[in-house]
This record gives sequence, structure tokens and C-alpha cells, in this order.
Amino acid sequence: MPIYEYECAGCGRAFEVILHIGGAPPSCPTCGSRECRKLIGAPAIHVKADHATARIEKRVRDYLIDGKVSDAVRFADKAASMVKSDRVKRVADKLHEKTGK
Ligand SMILES: [Zn+2]
Repeated sequence: MPIYEYECAGCGRAFEVILHIGGAPPSCPTCGSRECRKLIGAPAIHVKADHATARIEKRVRDYLIDGKVSDAVRFADKAASMVKSDRVKRVADKLHEKTGK
């Protein structure tokens, strides 16, 4: 389901909505205005980052299952430097905490 980011023309608030095809346009959660502008580009980045994060988490888990702790730490660090995602950073931090590496 596509998630879109909108900005309210009335109060300037930015918010995310999941749009159903053929559904009504969104209204602002703050002021109720329907004068909302779609921010193009934002949703694709969100979805891409989420996909990448899920793949990274799975790979780290696979390393750990195989007992390759050093590889898991190395991979998580590399992923955290490439994917600017708090979730990936947390995965790497947690690994460091657990393994002391
Ligand atoms: Zn508003």
C-alpha cells in the first residue's frame, strides 16, 4: 500500500497517509483542511529504506544463526554507514552491546 506524505496548505503540518486507490483525498489531522499538497518523492524513499532495513536485519540474523558473530557485526556496521536508518543503526548498536566488539 503506498504511503504518501502531504503538507497542509492551511496550517503547514506535514503528515503521512496511506492512500487507497479511488479513495477520498486526505484531510489535515490538525485543522481538518482538505487543501493538502502531496510531497512528491518522499514515499519512495521511505519504502526503499524499509525494504533495505528488512533485508539487513534478516542477513544479520542469518549470520548469528550460523554463529558468525564477527561477520554479523562487520556487516551491520557497514550497513549502518550506507543506509541512513535509525533502525539499522540500532541493530548495529545492539550487536556491539551484546558481543562487546
Ligand atoms: Zn492543517
